Amino acid sequence: MKLTNKNYYSTKANKEYFSVSQIKDFLKCEAYAMAKINGDWVEPPNTAMLIGSYVDSYFEGTLEEFKANTPELFKKDGSLKSDFVKAEQIIKRIESDELFMLCMSGKKQVIMTGELFGEKFKIKMDSYLPGEAIVDLKVVKKLREVFFRQSGKISFIEKWGYDLQLAVYQEIVRQNTDKLLDCVIAGVDKQDIPDIDCILIPNDQLEFQRRELTWKMARIIDVKTKKVEPARCGVCDYCRATKKLTGLITPDKLVY
Ligand SMILES: [Zn+2]
Repeated sequence: MKLTNKNYYSTKANKEYFSVSQIKDFLKCEAYAMAKINGDWVEPPNTAMLIGSYVDSYFEGTLEEFKANTPELFKKDGSLKSDFVKAEQIIKRIESDELFMLCMSGKKQVIMTGELFGEKFKIKMDSYLPGEAIVDLKVVKKLREVFFRQSGKISFIEKWGYDLQLAVYQEIVRQNTDKLLDCVIAGVDKQDIPDIDCILIPNDQLEFQRRELTWKMARIIDVKTKKVEPARCGVCDYCRATKKLTGLITPDKLVY
């Protein structure tokens, strides 16, 4: 199957190829991941996703098309909802910064495929600067938000697995071009005065993410190829929507 911008997110493509978002779905809940791959569960777009798509489509040069196809952006009187007025402010802020614009000046939404752990993978890059860098644009709540893990403080990049995402992108680009490129998150946030930064992810962090994924992939491949039944997490949207009661529970189960 030849991937294009039209069929990239199709059920056929998702069955034939692995992607980073699929991996993240599997790590969250196997049953949910499989339902998405099979087209049995479609996630309704939320406001945060739409703001991201709004800014993405501006850089891709398809904002007018995106607006025409997304009635959720507008109020009844035809004006933009406040969330997307914010998206406009974010775009203005980015446009005024030379380095940010340089990072975003690559080829947009470039698709590549490759092989990892014996499986076919697909990637789609926000801004690809051949021979130089792979840049992914992220619109987040707050760039400098601090999250906690047992190992200590982490940023939004580790929290949401953006280092894992770029680790896979870096390897697939290497397979296609024989070059190991710098990986950058072009980050902007949704504060009243948006904060911006371009964050270079160290190669050893990317390497670590790829190595860690190795340990998780065997199980994910077994589930996707239907060798084993997907486990249900029991608490995600998909599990809640499809759960069948098998008996009464006691109150302690609610807080377990
Ligand atoms: Zn679940």
